[in-house]
Amino acid sequence: MKQPEINKFLAKLLGQGLVYAPVRKGPVVLVEQVDSIDRIDWSGDIPITTFKSVFLPPKEVLFDNNKAEFADKIKKFAWGMNVLDLQAFSLFEQVFEKDIYYQKRRQNIFIIGFTNGIEDDFRKYKVFHQKYEENVLEHLIFDVFIERQKNGNMIVFSGSEKGQQLLEQNGIKDYENIEFAGLVPEQGINPIITRNRQAVELGRDNPIWDELAEICLACGKCSIHCPTCFCFDEKDQAEFDSVKKVRQWGSCFYPEFSKTAGGNKDLDSVKKKLYFWYEHKFVRIPDEFSYYGCVSCMRCFKVCPVEINIAKNLQALNK
Ligand code: SF4
Ligand code: SF4
Repeated sequence: MKQPEINKFLAKLLGQGLVYAPVRKGPVVLVEQVDSIDRIDWSGDIPITTFKSVFLPPKEVLFDNNKAEFADKIKKFAWGMNVLDLQAFSLFEQVFEKDIYYQKRRQNIFIIGFTNGIEDDFRKYKVFHQKYEENVLEHLIFDVFIERQKNGNMIVFSGSEKGQQLLEQNGIKDYENIEFAGLVPEQGINPIITRNRQAVELGRDNPIWDELAEICLACGKCSIHCPTCFCFDEKDQAEFDSVKKVRQWGSCFYPEFSKTAGGNKDLDSVKKKLYFWYEHKFVRIPDEFSYYGCVSCMRCFKVCPVEINIAKNLQALNK
C-alpha cells in the first residue's frame, strides 16, 4: 500500500471524529488535535507531550448530581502512536481495567500506531529499559498499526476486531491480523526489568538520592509528561445547587500528594519523592503487572529544568 491510500483513510477518519496526532513545532513534536493531514509529522520522533490525555483527561467530572450521564461519547482517533507509547497505553489498559469512566471513553477511542521500522526506532530512541524483540506487535494493545518500509510501502495490521471493522468500513482490505499474545512474552518477564527492579530496590540508601534531591525542584514536570504516570486526585466540589466529583492528574512531586488525615505526609522531602517515583516505575508496577513502569521514552529528562537523566541514574544504581 502507498502513502496516498493511507492519506485517504486518514482523511475519512478526520470526517468521523477527533484525530490526535504528532505535529512538528520547530525542533519539537507535540501531540495535538489535527484537522488536516498536512499537519501530521511522520518522522516517528517521540512527541514531547503524550497521548494520555486522550484516554485520561487532565481533569474530568465523574459525578454531578444535576446530570444523569457522564460517558464521553465522542469518537476519537489516537493516530501515529509510536511503539513506546503503545507500551505505555498497554499499561493504562491494565491499570484502568475496572475503571468504568475510562472504559466507557475507551469504547469510542481507536488506537492507531505508526513506525518507520520498529527495530530502527528502538535504536533511534536509545531504549534503555528493554531490548528489541521480533514479535513486539503481538504483545501490544492497539486497533490498527501502520509500518512504513524503507521503500515507502505501507504495511497495515489490525490488532483488534474494532480495528478490523474500522479498516474494512473505510475501504482498506489489504491488512494482516495480529493475534494478541498477552503483554508478557512466552519466555517471561524481560530480564532488564528484573535487573533494574533489583538495582532500585537495593539502592534505597544509595547517596544518589541525596545528590538528586539537592537539584530537583519537585516541579512535577517529569511525571506530567511521563506516558506511564497515572496517579490522580479526586475531589468533591459542593456548590449551592450542585455536588460534583472531579478527577484530575496528580503527581507524587506535588505538595498535597500523600497527605493523610491529621496533616501527616509520608513524602515529606524531595529525596523521598524522588525515590517513591523510581520505586513506583521500577519496583511496584513490575511487581503488580509484570510489565514496564517505564518505557524508556526519555520525556522526563527532556522536560526536566535541571536535566535529571533517568537512564544515567539507573546505570549508576546498577553499578
Ligand atoms: S522535572 Fe526534574 S526538577 Fe522537576 S520534579 Fe522532575 S526530576 Fe525534579
Ligand atoms: S523515560 Fe521517563 S518519561 Fe519515559 S516512561 Fe520512563 S520515566 Fe516516564
